[in-house]
This record gives sequence, structure tokens and C-alpha cells, in this order.
Amino acid sequence: MKLPDFSEFIPFRNLRQAMGARRPGHFVLFDPQRHLTGRERSELDQQGRQLPLARLRRLADDTWGLKNTRLLVYRSDQPYFHLAQCPVTQSWDPQTLIWVSTRRSGPLPLGEGKEIELGVCPECLQQLGYKGFDLKRNRKVGYSRLLLKQFSREDFFQVFALYPLQGVQDKPAEPLLKMPQPDGPTTEQSMPGQSGSAPDPG
Ligand SMILES: [Zn+2]
Repeated sequence: MKLPDFSEFIPFRNLRQAMGARRPGHFVLFDPQRHLTGRERSELDQQGRQLPLARLRRLADDTWGLKNTRLLVYRSDQPYFHLAQCPVTQSWDPQTLIWVSTRRSGPLPLGEGKEIELGVCPECLQQLGYKGFDLKRNRKVGYSRLLLKQFSREDFFQVFALYPLQGVQDKPAEPLLKMPQPDGPTTEQSMPGQSGSAPDPG
């Protein structure tokens, strides 16, 4: 049975254009501010990109992002690549130039034709609790060391999908200095002047 070609059916075609779909079955409006172009995706895999740390997204699950992809973060003067907003990366100045890439295996790119062999940062695995990684618990140390030794980015990105990110929020902007949380019993904290309704400044 031969079906008519609905892709050229004028009312459907008009509807598709009104929705901003470039081809049938494609309905996501492309926004270069939020979505990587094909060229950027290839760049992140092949050459990597160097940019200030502050340009990255701090994703709510503690990983790093750029537009709609997760990333590896690294520097040429450090022994590890990072997967998370671990204490090491948090200690860097936001203006520090870092390298980012999405390469799933092997050495990491430092621009055109240059590469560097780096290990995975244990603090990142600790922070993410990746596959139960925990070097701070005696009974998990052996297991965690093995995980570290056998770590595969390919496997990691099966758990933390690289691209495209969907439904992952950014962390709310927070002050750089974290206040220590009180451990003791909570005390009644009354805020003076908060009982009545404040006059609306507008
Ligand atoms: Zn790290």
C-alpha cells in the first residue's frame, strides 16, 4: 500500500514552520546561548577549550557544565582531571584559565594537536559518592582504591550522561564563604521586628 507523502502536505508543512521545526520530528528550538552547536561539540571532544572557571555552569548534582553538556575540567599543571565541584576546583580563583573537554577516553586535549595524560581526581569521586566510592570509611577503602585504579570515563558518563543535559538545574548562586552549621541543639531564634508586617517599600 502506498501512503501519501505527508511531509509535503501544505497544512502540515506550514504548521511545522510555525513551530520552528526545521525537519519532521524536530521540535526543540535551537538556542546558541544554551545549546552547543555541532562545531562546539566537535571542538570539546577534539581540541578542548580553554576558558575561565567562572564561565562554567555549577550543576546542582555537583558536576560541571557548559551550555547543555557536562564536562571534564583540568589544567596542564595539575595531575588530575576533575568531574565535580570538588574542594580542589573550588579552591581555584574563578578567573583561573582551565581546560574543558568531553572526551570519553584516553589523553585529554590541550588545543590543536596537544594532549595530556591525567588521572581522575579522588576528591571528585568522593564528593559524588560515585558507585559507593568512599576513602573515609575503613571498610570501603579497599574497594574505593580499586575503583580509582579501574576508573573509566566511558563508564562514568553512563551514570552522569554527558550530552544533552535535560532537567539538570544550576546551583543557586551562593556566597563564597560558607557559614559553619551549628551542631548543638537548635535554639529558639527570634528575629526582632519580624512579627508585624513590614511596610511595602513600593
Ligand atoms: Zn576534583
